[in-house]
Amino acid sequence: MIKRTFILAFLSLCTLGAAVSVLASGYQGRSASSQQPKTLYIVTTTAHLADIVHNLDPGHIRVESLMGTGVDPHLYRPTSSDVIKLKKADLVIYNGLHLEGRMVELLETLAQEKPAIAAAEQLPPGMLLEGPDNATDPHIWMSVPIWEAVTGIVTDTLIAHDPSYQDTYRQKAALYKGKLEKLDGWIKESVATIPKGNRVLITAHDAFGYFGDTYGLEVIGVQGLSTESEAGLQRIEALTDRLASEKIPAVFAESSLSDRNIKALINGAHQKGHTVARGDMLYSDALGQSGTVEGTYIGMMVHNVKTLTKSLGGKPPVFALDNELALNAP
Ligand SMILES: [Zn+2]
Repeated sequence: MIKRTFILAFLSLCTLGAAVSVLASGYQGRSASSQQPKTLYIVTTTAHLADIVHNLDPGHIRVESLMGTGVDPHLYRPTSSDVIKLKKADLVIYNGLHLEGRMVELLETLAQEKPAIAAAEQLPPGMLLEGPDNATDPHIWMSVPIWEAVTGIVTDTLIAHDPSYQDTYRQKAALYKGKLEKLDGWIKESVATIPKGNRVLITAHDAFGYFGDTYGLEVIGVQGLSTESEAGLQRIEALTDRLASEKIPAVFAESSLSDRNIKALINGAHQKGHTVARGDMLYSDALGQSGTVEGTYIGMMVHNVKTLTKSLGGKPPVFALDNELALNAP
């Protein structure tokens, strides 16, 4: 009623022509605002997955990851604010394959209420590796070609939910996949510079299986696939024997885990007469601090490869995207 009275009063003050012109401009305004896309709110468990979404964003996505830097996804328990975020999300993307070991029930329940996809579980089974105990290895981001396949899965999911932007999603996906291919080629060149006898990567837990499989390194985690199992003294003893007898030059701590076992290896090898260097910390299950180069997937992989290549006696070549990474650090 107020609206009608306002329009009548308005018309009585204006010439018909002016009124038509004002109404027409009002109509255009509404038309433009109706074209504003609705914000799509996406929640991911890991920052790795949020990074893919960020790279595909046509400009109306708000993406948040629940697990920040230094967080161990195997042991992570969702907080009450995480549950609120998951309930509010238009779309939830998680890794799956039991990476989020303590969130499985919550995520599976959520998937009955809203779109929630386990990205790793949509990969062709032939791409996946079995770890010890016949468990499937969930650390899929460690192989760049597999991560490219995950990028494809996330792209298809976004297109299914937001089909009017499918061309933009496809263009952005192609651009990002081009960068991943450059990264993959550079990792192969870097690893090729490591003396063959030194291509052994010893880390705190079994996060690097896909990395070793794709790039030709033997990978040994002191703990198993999940950080829930403790490494026994016998395992530490056997590994220090190997370090000493094969003169393996370095072992590596991980950003999301305590370095207790790595210190035990270094001390054990020292007692057997072999000095093992402590390689710089590697990012395994969490990205670096957001706002830094290592806070992106590509930046994290570049850090890891430079670190392990140098510590194992190789010399990584210059990476073509180094400058771009530094400039674009979010
Ligand atoms: Zn892990």
